[in-house]
Amino acid sequence: MLIDSHAHLQDPDLLPDLEDVLRRAQDAGVEGIICVGYDLSSSQLAVKLAEEYPFIWAAVGVHPENLDSLAPDTYDRLAELAKRPRVVAWGEVGLDYVHGDPDRARQKEAFRRQLGIAQALNLPVIIHNREAHGDTLAILEEAGPRQQAGVMHCFSGSAEFARECLALGYYISFAGPVTFKNARRVREVAATIPAERLLCETDSPYLSPEPYRGQRNEPARVVEVATQLASLFGETLETFAPRLTANARRLFDLDRFLQD
Ligand SMILES: [Zn+2]
Ligand SMILES: [Zn+2]
Repeated sequence: MLIDSHAHLQDPDLLPDLEDVLRRAQDAGVEGIICVGYDLSSSQLAVKLAEEYPFIWAAVGVHPENLDSLAPDTYDRLAELAKRPRVVAWGEVGLDYVHGDPDRARQKEAFRRQLGIAQALNLPVIIHNREAHGDTLAILEEAGPRQQAGVMHCFSGSAEFARECLALGYYISFAGPVTFKNARRVREVAATIPAERLLCETDSPYLSPEPYRGQRNEPARVVEVATQLASLFGETLETFAPRLTANARRLFDLDRFLQD
């Protein structure tokens, strides 16, 4: 049984087809999905889905690509939403120097502000970082270390950067790219992460793993990601999946909801 630690089920590419998507996930052995918000309305939808399905939990936050959606009351409304019982994380937030807001100072301010809110609410943070490793690390260091601080999602940095994030209390999550044929470096970095700090995710509907690269992604395909991670640790999916799942349960405190 696996947990997809990062999916956008509320995305217009997945939502119309949700019943089929969820059935295929369950058939593939996915026991839980973290549905991640990227602005206020996607966060509200994530919470709605989490309240509707017992195996979905929500994260709320504003992604660095969506800062134009910010209204004066957005953070207050998200913080209110975050108090609902099925919200297990804040995110996704962070820095994106490829597709994010062109105003980097604005990105950093939104990142710092949301890290602070998450810390005050004692929620783990789902961090998005694209081509912004140095600034991301500087801001995480400013916020300081914390138990179950959050997760560096779809990790693309170096082994050294991973070590700094681990020291601050972050888990490291890998998505479809770890399966890509030309991603030897990502696999080398993944193999250096302590197994008890590793997560798997799809980032659906994006980043479909091999052999589905380029197609619409969905949570059932977290199996391909987990299988790749297992092989990097010299394990099988059967032995490694429970370890990955235990990590997600610990980070998001899912044992409140799950038996056994
Ligand atoms: Zn992301
Ligand atoms: Zn995402």
